[in-house]
Amino acid sequence: MILAIDIGGTHYKLGLVDAAGGIHQLRTGSTDRTGGADWMIARLNREAKELLEQAPAGVRACGIGFGGPVDFAAQRILSSTHVAGWNEIDLPGMLKAELGLPAVVENDANAGALGELRFGAGQGCRHLVYLTISTGIGGGIIIDGSLYRGAKGQAGERGHLPVLPGGPRCDCGNQGCLEALASGKSIGRRAEEACAARPERGSALLALAAGAALSAETVFAAAGQGDPLALELVDETCRYLGLGLAMVVNTLSPELIVLGGGVSRAGEALLAPLRQHTAAYTMPAHRELIRVEQARHPDEAVLLGAAALARTWVV
Ligand SMILES: [Zn+2]
Repeated sequence: MILAIDIGGTHYKLGLVDAAGGIHQLRTGSTDRTGGADWMIARLNREAKELLEQAPAGVRACGIGFGGPVDFAAQRILSSTHVAGWNEIDLPGMLKAELGLPAVVENDANAGALGELRFGAGQGCRHLVYLTISTGIGGGIIIDGSLYRGAKGQAGERGHLPVLPGGPRCDCGNQGCLEALASGKSIGRRAEEACAARPERGSALLALAAGAALSAETVFAAAGQGDPLALELVDETCRYLGLGLAMVVNTLSPELIVLGGGVSRAGEALLAPLRQHTAAYTMPAHRELIRVEQARHPDEAVLLGAAALARTWVV
């Protein structure tokens, strides 16, 4: 049994994962951003201790998926764009000192890729690309059965592929990144802009939102009802995502692309136009091979991957 932890910008999770990918005693909570890293580390220590006290014997290691850049070789969290205090933090060392368990940390999107490879849609694959679309866009790359991390552990950052020269400013500082156009937050922003520009076309979308800010979820719901503006927004989103995926397919020729994150819950309403746009931008030799599927564990892939990593790394 492995203690698995998923630390995100808005929520955290922990649970015990068995060798078959079963999750036991799952705990979830909201991240207190104002409390920073100190709050989160104290909270994790307390919850992990409670969990281990109730656990059957044989918890052998701890795997952590962290929502921010991680130097895997040095086993350090480098920073967080959402929560203060995570600069150069040796979280595995801190947890080992408190819990007495060997621990390993990995970026959450990389952990998610491993989780889908071992226990989800990617079982049996050797070459897999995982893309997670929620507030932001992240991903992991599996080559020949192993995570590809690149020179500094930052490979797989598909969210910052430039897909629109001179496009909207991204949080990373560049312009026209995939994340600045097709993340959940960006889809909502583009919908707001489209409604502001042509209010008569946006009436169905605004009615669905009922006074709340427009979200990707609202856009996909309106598209499902045949709203023309929402359908245009979905098509445009899939064009940007398809451009990004075509770059990945032409470079890596993966067997499978797995889509996770909250926006992937739109299912075929997202996947069908995305397959078309990806194929249109991909070189002909690759088109027949393109498979784009929804993640099997959209909520638990990070926990499952962190556990799989701990099992091979420290046990
Ligand atoms: Zn960017």
